[in-house]
Amino acid sequence: MSLKPEEISKLLKEQIRRYDDEMEVDETGTVITIGDGIALVYGLRNAMAGELLLFPHDVYGMVLNLEEEHVGAVLMGNDTGIKEGDEVKRTGKIVEVPVGDMMLGRVVNALGQAIDGGEAIVSDKFRPVERVAPGVMTRKSVHQPLMTGLKVIDSMIPIGRGQRELIIGDRQTGKTAIAIDTIINQKDKNVKCIYVAIGQKASTVAQIVEKLRSHGAMEYTTIVSSTASDAAPLQYIAPYAGCAIGEEWMENGDDVLIVYDDLSKHAVAYRTMSLLLKRPPGREAYPGDVFYLHSRLLERAAKLNDELGGGSLTALPIIETQAGDIAAYIPTNVISITDGQIFLQTELFNSGVRPAVDSGLSVSRVGSAAQIKAMKQVSGSLKLELAQYREMQAFAKFGSDLDAATSETLAHGERLTRLLIQNQYDPMSASHQVLSLFAAKNKYLKNVKVEDVALYEKEMLKYMEREHHEIIAQIDEKQALDEALSESIKQALDAFAKEFANILEG
Ligand code: ATP
Ligand code: MG
Repeated sequence: MSLKPEEISKLLKEQIRRYDDEMEVDETGTVITIGDGIALVYGLRNAMAGELLLFPHDVYGMVLNLEEEHVGAVLMGNDTGIKEGDEVKRTGKIVEVPVGDMMLGRVVNALGQAIDGGEAIVSDKFRPVERVAPGVMTRKSVHQPLMTGLKVIDSMIPIGRGQRELIIGDRQTGKTAIAIDTIINQKDKNVKCIYVAIGQKASTVAQIVEKLRSHGAMEYTTIVSSTASDAAPLQYIAPYAGCAIGEEWMENGDDVLIVYDDLSKHAVAYRTMSLLLKRPPGREAYPGDVFYLHSRLLERAAKLNDELGGGSLTALPIIETQAGDIAAYIPTNVISITDGQIFLQTELFNSGVRPAVDSGLSVSRVGSAAQIKAMKQVSGSLKLELAQYREMQAFAKFGSDLDAATSETLAHGERLTRLLIQNQYDPMSASHQVLSLFAAKNKYLKNVKVEDVALYEKEMLKYMEREHHEIIAQIDEKQALDEALSESIKQALDAFAKEFANILEG
């Protein structure tokens, strides 16, 4: 039996028509079970992982589990209005957020919708929240500093643009403070900033927005906020959403700083979702892929090569530890993914050493390549001096007679520690930091009482600005200290020593 060509084409057309019909059927499904923000949906055979679904009452859900008979989805809103048998529509879209300069100065939720009471965000450009990180060949090694404005960090644990530096410590040790000061320090430095709040109290986020605004930092900053009261899926998406917003700028050649505050709460949100989806729990009840949760996020921080515009995305993830335990599951994971960590200690914080950075346990594996030369020149021996000080301190506690060298190390260490203390919301310029550390390195603090160190620094910088502006201008311009410049700083500091004596008397 042979078919005529017309008949074959008729058959094919019929099949194609029916195929379209089948597709149509697959675009909607029905809710099988619903509860705890999790829905099992039957009939969405073509749904993609990460796809947005539309439930009744305009509640969105995201597909996470693809199974043979059904898909498991998490809801990004209230599930109380949804019941078994309800219809669910596919949207065909992966979760995405609006990107571009109109995000600056705004506070948005994890889906990029404005929550600051301002007008709705209108953008013609969107990016999916998840994306594969830039490959090795598209990157360039880190070579420009990203200054935090905090002496203790910029001198000993420098951060470079495109680097991932973890801020880790127990609760209430000043982790957020370091991140916020770093954002404030980017003013007039052409760095766009993103602060992602994950599982924080709404009141804390409101305070942060207020602080950034009053320091003029909101102009170049976007806040992505998913508070503790938001559904777990929103907390889960928030960092990826913030990252997508940053990537858009990075690919346009801009330098971007992103803070994830904090990834411990992010891991908990993911654990909640996974357990509700009945995925098998592993160590500490986290699902097996929790490492990938943070590695695929942090790998997206990069310094792009010149052909791609040379933009960068620097990431400061934050992790909260319990009783200083950095060997727990999530901390060890994130430590291994980042290029170094700033370790904060409760004892230091409580004894008034703030920022409470433990210089012994903190490292930056790439940042020193990006440090300006002048900073290297004045801070090269700092870490060692502080380590020696801590060691001697232990001996000094026994109250035995100390030889002159030991006393000197102790006195110097005490003054250095005092000098590295810095108030919140008061980041320092590179040239001011260099001058302060230069004074310490060249023993100008030797004759200053420990309790006068802060005053010395404040008055010295005022004096330098007033009497020797050319020195500050030269440090800014050359970014290095040659012999002549070092000599003129020394002369200026000698002259200031006399003035400081007067100040103390007066
Ligand atoms: P949490 O675990 O609650 O998130 P955290 O580790 O982020 O806390 P912060 O909220 O940054 O800590 O700081 C805790 C408190 O310490 C705040 O009241 C803050 O104002 C204060 N603080 C932080 N840094 C400094 C500093 N350099 N000088 C003085 N006070 C500081
Ligand atoms: Mg905090």
